[in-house]
Amino acid sequence: MSAARVAIDEGTPVDDARAAVRGWVETAVPRDWRDAVARGGLVELRRVRPRAVYEQWYPTFAASGLVAPTWAPEYGGLGVSNAVARVIDDVLAPHHLGRLNPLGLSLAGPTLLAWGSEDQRRRYLPPIVRNEERWCQLFSEPGAGSDLASLATKAERDGDEWVLTGQKVWSTWAHESQFALTLARSNPDVPKREGITYFIVPVDAAGVSVRPLRQMTGEADFNEVFLDGVRISDGMRIGSVDEGWKVANATLSGERQMISGTGAGGVDRIGGRSVERLVARLRESGDDPVARQRIMGLYATERALAWTNARARDARKAGRPPGPESSIGKLLAAELNQAIQEEWLRLCGPTAMARGDGDDDTGAVVHGFLRSRANTIEGGTSEVQRNVIGERVLGLPREPDQFRDAPWRDVPRS
Ligand SMILES: Cc1cc2nc3c(=O)[nH]c(=O)nc-3n(C[C@H](O)[C@H](O)[C@H](O)COP(=O)(O)OP(=O)(O)OC[C@H]3O[C@@H](n4cnc5c(N)ncnc54)[C@H](O)[C@@H]3O)c2cc1C
Repeated sequence: MSAARVAIDEGTPVDDARAAVRGWVETAVPRDWRDAVARGGLVELRRVRPRAVYEQWYPTFAASGLVAPTWAPEYGGLGVSNAVARVIDDVLAPHHLGRLNPLGLSLAGPTLLAWGSEDQRRRYLPPIVRNEERWCQLFSEPGAGSDLASLATKAERDGDEWVLTGQKVWSTWAHESQFALTLARSNPDVPKREGITYFIVPVDAAGVSVRPLRQMTGEADFNEVFLDGVRISDGMRIGSVDEGWKVANATLSGERQMISGTGAGGVDRIGGRSVERLVARLRESGDDPVARQRIMGLYATERALAWTNARARDARKAGRPPGPESSIGKLLAAELNQAIQEEWLRLCGPTAMARGDGDDDTGAVVHGFLRSRANTIEGGTSEVQRNVIGERVLGLPREPDQFRDAPWRDVPRS
């Protein structure tokens, strides 16, 4: 195994970068993984590469700089352009080298890069790349989801410290994270978007309690998190006091890009089985013309989404800020994935109802279907994405909000 940085930097031409990544794959990716991929793709790879083995090997991937290649070398990346990052992903794709720590890479990373201090970036970004410190997002509250800006968790200043008190909910992976991206109300006397401050909260700080919530797949990926007088230093603040809403937009945009697949690196699928495998299954199971028509529709939509995502990435490369494309991509990716998982269920027929615990194949289909129900809620619901597209793309009138300019403390809350 090689734990070396791959020899690519911001000046490397695209063709040389491709050759360098191929060379790295030859020396750093274990031969039995490569052989398994050549024999039977992901299905074979899963047989020879259990999760624990992959995690043990992961420091080699992290040391290469290929996990977050657009980040500067001092943050654990290679400092390359999005174009080179895409070439890197193309070469790596057949080897299924999933990036661990998705919320660190896709939410904390862009937030710290856009708004963090240099000290914060150097402190927090490299351990994200190495998957040594994992991150979660403490935004949603029992009374603040779609209308996130109405959040009520309090942040009170006490000298060089802040004291945080409140409740968060749906906090994915909080139970296995070291740090949390957290929004809290620092000024209740101004309109709701103007009195929020953004903090990094260590999940093991005194006063933080994490209580897992079980979801219908049977797993407990997300949590309720209680903040009871949690003290953190002012150095854990990201951005200016009362200007956390602007900072939050970097996180939310990163989240939408992660879910829609418009992000450079990080997570690019949102659970369940792919449409390509659906096509392969259809080939094996006979030529049902009605199923074929439905699956072709899904395949065509998936291709259109991939091209829209490529356009969005190119727009960012050309220096345009992430625009409403990420809302369009998030909306389409969520609804498409649900339709793909429903189609999988249909192909399984009644066996899907008789899912056994040890039944890998049908079990995975049912799991994918159940998990996909959350796609149209997580990262902002489909209704809210449609509002954003209506207002920002189509120029429709804004949703009326009689409390838009009222001080937060005067806005009625549930
Ligand atoms: C799997 C999963 C993981 C999650 N992980 C995290 C996480 O890690 N961190 C975190 O902070 N949050 C997380 N969330 C929370 C998620 O962001 C919220 O669930 C989401 O924003 C919706 O908020 P809500 O659940 O409070 O629903 P509500 O806002 O109460 O919405 C209820 C319904 O009303 C509709 N609605 C609300 N407002 C409008 C409107 N203006 N126009 C039209 N319809 C509207 C919604 O679309 C929805 O159908 C997660 C959620 C899920 C499902």
